[in-house]
Amino acid sequence: MIVVMDQTSAPELAEDVAAALRAEDMQVLRSRCHGRAHLISTGTAPRGLAERIRPLPGVESVVDTEDALRFTGRAYQRADTVVDVAGVPIGGPAFVVVAGPCAVENRAQMGDSAHGVALAGGAILRGGAYKPRTSPYSFQGLGRAGLRLLAEQREVTGLPIITEVLDVADLDDVLEVADILQVGTRNMSNATLLRAIGRSGRPVLLKRGMAATIEEWLLAAEYILSEGNPDVVLCERGIRTFEPATRFTLDLSAVAAVRRISHLPVIVDPSHAAGRTDLVRPLALAAAAVGADGIMIDIHPDAATALCDAGQALHPKELAELTADLGRLLTATGRVLAVPPPRPMPARPRALATEGV
Ligand code: PEP
Ligand code: MN
Repeated sequence: MIVVMDQTSAPELAEDVAAALRAEDMQVLRSRCHGRAHLISTGTAPRGLAERIRPLPGVESVVDTEDALRFTGRAYQRADTVVDVAGVPIGGPAFVVVAGPCAVENRAQMGDSAHGVALAGGAILRGGAYKPRTSPYSFQGLGRAGLRLLAEQREVTGLPIITEVLDVADLDDVLEVADILQVGTRNMSNATLLRAIGRSGRPVLLKRGMAATIEEWLLAAEYILSEGNPDVVLCERGIRTFEPATRFTLDLSAVAAVRRISHLPVIVDPSHAAGRTDLVRPLALAAAAVGADGIMIDIHPDAATALCDAGQALHPKELAELTADLGRLLTATGRVLAVPPPRPMPARPRALATEGV
């Protein structure tokens, strides 16, 4: 059960409600979302408890769910969540194209990529400074130097930045640059990282673990939401199956299924799913057709020299062709491509302090 307290209610009233829940042997977790105190009870609620809690002073609403998907489920929020990434809404009517190199390599490569994304009509710029590589002997990313190159391109192009945070130890540095934090497939189950990101209050793109069920993926999102951060975008990036022709198997049915279960926006990464340049375009179009809220695409100005995932990067020109195709497909379905935020860009929100109830 989730008890949502009225925005203007005194903190003591939340205390009284917590006491009433504890008196029924419920354990109570506290959170804050959309400016309201939330009391999340765990344990099996006795019959009629929701009805007894609902009229208590200061209570705005009670979501009577024993479902583990307390915050991510449609029972908690019927309407779609729209996540505002420095002026780019993800989850509304507009389809968002996120693009950039897999890894930030140097100033020229990042500059050419950012220029290409802006020209192609992309709305958000990606680039990995901390790379979770399968092999410890592969390029691991430029770290803080990579973050600085991303910050430069934010200034030059006005595009919001998405970049991966691998470790809680790097979170403060990444928060200096990222308008939206990326949690990669290998970290989807890193509860410590998810909690810290939840407390940061910054929007987050949560990639699906390569062997995670939809429920496990949404439970990972619960770690972030239950810490008071409602701004989670899910990203389907392919799952491990028996099929070796593609790097992973893009599970487009998960996009349609998640949209039924959850109010959170979902985007698709066809680059990491297929691992093959020639499949990126058809899978990106399929993502738009199945109802995804956007796509994330790897590009590189000179893929032959790419230090990371060379086999899946589009040339910036190919990205422009893809966005043109997407534009036509979206028009046919009554949607449009998202545009970058107007200049000057909105100030990046500072990392929020943890709010208690
Ligand atoms: C990435 O997007 O850079 C990445 C490493 O993707 P994934 O976590 O899906 O493998
Ligand atoms: Mn990659």
